Amino acid sequence: MNREQMINCLDGRTWDVIVIGGGATGLGVAVDAQTRGYQTLLLEQHDFAKGTSSRSTKLVHGGVRYLQQGNIALVIEALRERGLLCRNAPHLVQHLAFVVPRYRWWEGPFYGIGLKLYDILAGSLNLAPSRQLDRQETIQRIPNIATEHLIGGTMYHDAQFDDARMAITLAQTAADHGAVLINYLRVSGLIKPEGTVAGVQAVDAESGRLYELRARVVINATGIFADQVRCMDDTAAEPLVSPSQGVHLVLDRTFQPSETAIMVPHTDDGRVLFVIPWHERVLIGTTDTAMERPELEPRPLAEEVGFILRNAARYLERDPAETDILSVFAGQRPLVHPNGLGVQTKSISREHMVVISESGLVTIVGGKWTTYRKMAQDTVDDAIAVGGLPERPCVTENLRVHGWMSREDPALPQAGHLQMYGADAAAVQAFLAEDPARTELLHPQLPYVCGQVLWAVRHEMARTIEDVLARRTRSLLLDARAALAAAPRVAELLAGELGHDSVWIASQIAQWRELARGYLPAGV
Ligand SMILES: Cc1cc2nc3c(=O)[nH]c(=O)nc-3n(C[C@H](O)[C@H](O)[C@H](O)COP(=O)(O)OP(=O)(O)OC[C@H]3O[C@@H](n4cnc5c(N)ncnc54)[C@H](O)[C@@H]3O)c2cc1C
Repeated sequence: MNREQMINCLDGRTWDVIVIGGGATGLGVAVDAQTRGYQTLLLEQHDFAKGTSSRSTKLVHGGVRYLQQGNIALVIEALRERGLLCRNAPHLVQHLAFVVPRYRWWEGPFYGIGLKLYDILAGSLNLAPSRQLDRQETIQRIPNIATEHLIGGTMYHDAQFDDARMAITLAQTAADHGAVLINYLRVSGLIKPEGTVAGVQAVDAESGRLYELRARVVINATGIFADQVRCMDDTAAEPLVSPSQGVHLVLDRTFQPSETAIMVPHTDDGRVLFVIPWHERVLIGTTDTAMERPELEPRPLAEEVGFILRNAARYLERDPAETDILSVFAGQRPLVHPNGLGVQTKSISREHMVVISESGLVTIVGGKWTTYRKMAQDTVDDAIAVGGLPERPCVTENLRVHGWMSREDPALPQAGHLQMYGADAAAVQAFLAEDPARTELLHPQLPYVCGQVLWAVRHEMARTIEDVLARRTRSLLLDARAALAAAPRVAELLAGELGHDSVWIASQIAQWRELARGYLPAGV
């Protein structure tokens, strides 16, 4: 994928489908629409997955929480999608064992029965059967578990992934099939001759150039920003989305040194807490804080950090302190607004919703990463009728994503910083081997090398330090201080590739410092 080539495709044609928003939802819609044979253009105002889609807990899961709430239909749908994702993106999705620790006698039968039901609902796509562990095996699986009054644990299985890498992979998948996807191109208005949405106005954040782009149907997949785009269509549009913030802390692996995750179904105030091994670090989260406004770069609140530290300390033998935090990040869930359920909807499926305005703007809100494929299918099914497109069936159930490679393939690199490329890993390694400078580490605390920055620019449409350190590599989440220190080297490499001067380098570094400091807890 190359941004200049993509921009050159904006040639005045009428697209079948324009998708606004390059997160999980929009990228899924682009893959679905293009693979059905509709000429598809996707526009993202910032970078792919800049929004919520790079800030999740990174689980591909049926949602044990929804089981507790009795939302069986949603669990069945998500478990099915979990199975399809493991099959269609095996190099990015891996099985993960979870232990629910037991401190009270009744928790064994209670969680045991619930998680057996979880197994049954997954049917033939179940990953492995759940089972009870005694105290000793629980400690073996989770060496840092708090042992006072520990009776044992219930083990079950879900899957985990790298959210931002999955987003880039979906963009590549759509592009492989002929879609055009452009980052840093913001939709600023809708074209509505005779009251019907017929395209968008968009502005290129790099060149400042304005575009008028026409389409048979326009799909609003802007997550927490969906209401802003709906207001471009109708200034009186009812709000559909309520942003809800969730925060995660990243610690080093000594806080959970094995390959098993901890799941606490009920913290003191009834939330779910996860402690998850991820990329040689540990992720702990999350929170659920209603926010008044959507933020593209949300900041964790001090009380959210305190809540996670306090609750993690109740379940870990060695308590984490604020000074142990390598990075802290926040994301906002695009939850369907309670009032939104009152508007006329074309289709409601579990927790996502497709809404079609009188002028034909198709909006998809809600959902989660795990169900992005089904959300896309439902959205495109509805968009076909709105755009008068020829009916064609969805093909994504069995569609392998870009770089597909079996986990059993011995050629799949074991190291996470190379495994994420899947079948492209051989080409990446050959590229790195061409020049010893490309194999230099970006920073001693990070696994990534300089050549991966060049690769990200040439093949993954990275444009800024942030694109490279936050999403093409996960440096910012793995270690915010190291990511701050690596910035000058990354800026130089980017400037060399993209033809920028020293003024650009200085301004990039300044912007990056401002952003990356938000990933360190206050007072550290
Ligand atoms: C804390 C947290 C934990 C989560 N954990 C999980 C999990 O473990 N598993 C799971 O399955 N799900 C999880 N989720 C849910 C999942 O992350 C989201 O449902 C999903 O990422 C939403 O994707 P989206 O594409 O709808 O929104 P986004 O990713 O926010 O994408 C919307 C995009 O639209 C762009 N945009 C906005 N306005 C414009 C415009 N005018 N022009 C062009 N582009 C525009 C934005 O820049 C943004 O990139 C979690 C969510 C949170 C917040």
